[in-house]
Amino acid sequence: MTTASMNALELSGVRKVYGSGGSAVTALDGVSVGIPRGSFTAVMGPSGSGKSTFLHCAAGLDRPTSGRVALGGYEIGNLNESALTQLRRDRIGFIFQAYNLLPSLNVLQNITLPLRLAGRKPDPQWLRTIVEGVGIAKRLEHRPAELSGGQQQRVAIARALVARPDVVLADEPTGALDTRTGKQVLDLLRTIVDHMGQTVLMVTHDPVAASAADSVLFLADGKLAGHAVKPTPERIAEWMTHLGEW
Ligand code: ADP
Ligand code: MG
Repeated sequence: MTTASMNALELSGVRKVYGSGGSAVTALDGVSVGIPRGSFTAVMGPSGSGKSTFLHCAAGLDRPTSGRVALGGYEIGNLNESALTQLRRDRIGFIFQAYNLLPSLNVLQNITLPLRLAGRKPDPQWLRTIVEGVGIAKRLEHRPAELSGGQQQRVAIARALVARPDVVLADEPTGALDTRTGKQVLDLLRTIVDHMGQTVLMVTHDPVAASAADSVLFLADGKLAGHAVKPTPERIAEWMTHLGEW
């Protein structure tokens, strides 16, 4: 297997500078990392360390000032805007802290929206696998307002999976949930990695949430400051203390 096919996502020497001259801010300063297929990776770091910029560059929502990003083996720097939009739609699933469901659509319509926007039909068998997998199969006719926060996040996870993306990017997916519901959502992310072979990259502030991942990347001042494999919440908290977060 080539490196490109082993890694769902690869960043090489990614730098991102916002603004110019005296007001320039270096948000990412030479980040190189490969995210293996079928892995669950958390990204942590103090506020302003570049986590969101990292996620946006990984998603092709933001273009690096220099360096390369490859998604599913495709170098995204070479793509024009419309090709990039299509790549995002076909190969990336997003999960946000705010679930971003459309209130006028029912659960099933929300889940299948990305495919319909792409002019594609959902594969009924895959659709069944994901709605059962996220535990929302009995709620398909309901509107988001009729669901709890945890259930709405499950719908958002199903929507992120519907196009069978190369990578699922999650920005604080448990940030709006209580501890117990947050744990259920993390268990679910674990399940889509372990049983569906998905690749998940999650930004979080929470050491307990991060400990659900296979490995944790630490960012500080736009640089990779560490990488811990299967760390406990206590070890993660210790890292964060060293990075100056608490
Ligand atoms: P984090 O998500 O870890 O809090 P960000 O990636 O949001 O960090 O930001 C990293 C740095 O880049 C911060 O100093 C932030 O102020 C700056 N930054 C982020 N986005 C922009 C932008 N659009 N314009 C200017 N500066 C930005
Ligand atoms: Mg952020």
